[in-house]
Amino acid sequence: MKSVGFPARGVLRRKAARIRAELIQAYGTPHWESSLTAVDELVATVLSQNTSDINSGRAFGQLLERYGSMEAVRDADPAELIATIRPAGLANQKGPRIQAVLRAITEARGTLDLKFLRKLTPAEGRAWLTQFNGVGPKTASIVLLFALGIPTFPVDTHVHRVTGRLGLRPETLSADDSHEWLEGLFVPEAYHDAHINLIRHGREICHARNPKCEICPLQRLCADFQARSARRVPRKT
Ligand code: SF4
Repeated sequence: MKSVGFPARGVLRRKAARIRAELIQAYGTPHWESSLTAVDELVATVLSQNTSDINSGRAFGQLLERYGSMEAVRDADPAELIATIRPAGLANQKGPRIQAVLRAITEARGTLDLKFLRKLTPAEGRAWLTQFNGVGPKTASIVLLFALGIPTFPVDTHVHRVTGRLGLRPETLSADDSHEWLEGLFVPEAYHDAHINLIRHGREICHARNPKCEICPLQRLCADFQARSARRVPRKT
């Protein structure tokens, strides 16, 4: 994937490495041990769409308590499932979507065990998962990275916004297309910590509105900040 008029890949890779180091300096190296299977992670990620971690965590906890397995979720009474996941919001959409994906995976593989994805390349794994309705590149990348340890770079709204401001990707590149782009900039060992720390940075400092540039440790590396400083223009939003 190329972008006309954008810095060369080598320059961007070095910048990505410096940003990663600054983020680790600011926030530390995040540790993550998931006890979820890949299909658990998939369902948890669908539940987390458009809601807070607290709400989706509550819904997922209730789901596990009531059904105990994703096979039972797949075969559950649809209305009962919707009531169970109500805390996650949009339950009328998420319930049927979850059951449809679980049924489609069972049809394709004869099982809900997704460990076979480890034998595929990251791009192949993402392509396999995104063939199902309701599974986009972000959900697929989260499943691959967090549940299966396959190096992918999930791009959520925070990662997309912050990397755009930093000048790590072309401004017009969509979040979906940014997965592959960022995987080409960061080394695979960095995907996990850079993903987590960029989200934290987006939540705590580089807000969508009124980012706290005055206390940001990435000022020197931020294309948006540098451009505004050169023009002496304050950020309005
Ligand atoms: S300097 Fe401002 S715009 Fe740039 S990354 Fe930091 S908070 Fe975001």
